[in-house]
Amino acid sequence: MVQSKEEIKAKARESRKKYAESSKGKIKRKEYNQRPEVKAKIKEYQSRPEVKARNNARSKKYSQRPEMKVKQKEYDSKPEVKARKKEYSQRPEVKARKKEYSQRPEVKARKNARQKKYSQRPEVKARVKEYNQRPEVKARVKEYQSRPEVKAKVKEYQSRPEVKAKVNACSKKYYQRPEVKARVKERHQTPEYKANRKIRRETPANKAKQKEYSQRPEVKAKHLTRSRKPEVKAKSKLVSDNTRLKVLQIYSKRLSNSDIPCCKCCNLNSHIEFLVIDHIAGKREMDSIPELVKQDYSSNFPTGQLIRWIIKNNFPDGFQILCHNCNMAKGFYGKCLHEIK
Ligand SMILES: [Zn+2]
Ligand SMILES: [Zn+2]
Repeated sequence: MVQSKEEIKAKARESRKKYAESSKGKIKRKEYNQRPEVKAKIKEYQSRPEVKARNNARSKKYSQRPEMKVKQKEYDSKPEVKARKKEYSQRPEVKARKKEYSQRPEVKARKNARQKKYSQRPEVKARVKEYNQRPEVKARVKEYQSRPEVKAKVKEYQSRPEVKAKVNACSKKYYQRPEVKARVKERHQTPEYKANRKIRRETPANKAKQKEYSQRPEVKAKHLTRSRKPEVKAKSKLVSDNTRLKVLQIYSKRLSNSDIPCCKCCNLNSHIEFLVIDHIAGKREMDSIPELVKQDYSSNFPTGQLIRWIIKNNFPDGFQILCHNCNMAKGFYGKCLHEIK
């Protein structure tokens, strides 16, 4: 029987394989591999970069097979393996190496990036939130934050210029969100907030602070520039016109029973520009009325401030609305000429 070249080769391969798998072949191979010159050759071969890379890739692929992962996990959880690992990782040289490694900038950056990505996963966020809201955790955090050394550290951190700038930018951005703006506005309009604000503003310390602030040259200058803008002027005129009208209306209603502002003496009501707020007992004389003194009344109030004071004190008695004529006459003669006649 004639065999082809291919058949002969295949047969030879088969028999080599059989031999290599036999116990005799295995022993021989082991012996061969342990000859110093062979060992050196193997070592040289395995240290070639391309071989190393290939080996690494292969072993990585191998260790990522699901069954291998399970096996590895099983192996890692054996007590003796755990103990060995622990012992290893606590050797000073290993610790030092680890530390050196974890402090390399690129390693740190990688770690931070990974952590950030992880902490931004929705499920992780939810878990963290849930954890932070547990009463015992909250209590622990509170206790920690109230320690003097921690407080000092926080304060120091927050006073760093770069941190301040960052916090400011952040909070500015936050308060500019439409939904936040709406929420703040809503809160500011609740009666309890308004009441609290009033109390806060009226404390002596706060008043002093406000005064000090408004008298700083740069603040004064800013106010002045602002108040000169046409749109600001127009708006403030509108506001003062409205508040003046309110005062005129209330006293006219109260003393003349008129829905339209009018002179208490002659009933003139054609133009509200002709009307003034008159101090019934006399401007200076009212400085000595105890109730008014208690409310910080002063005869030195300019008109605008008098109007604000009247509104703030809920329209106290002692004022009436007159036209300029009746008011002048009262000033000159003590009584309006309408009354004398
Ligand atoms: Zn009049
Ligand atoms: Zn009159």
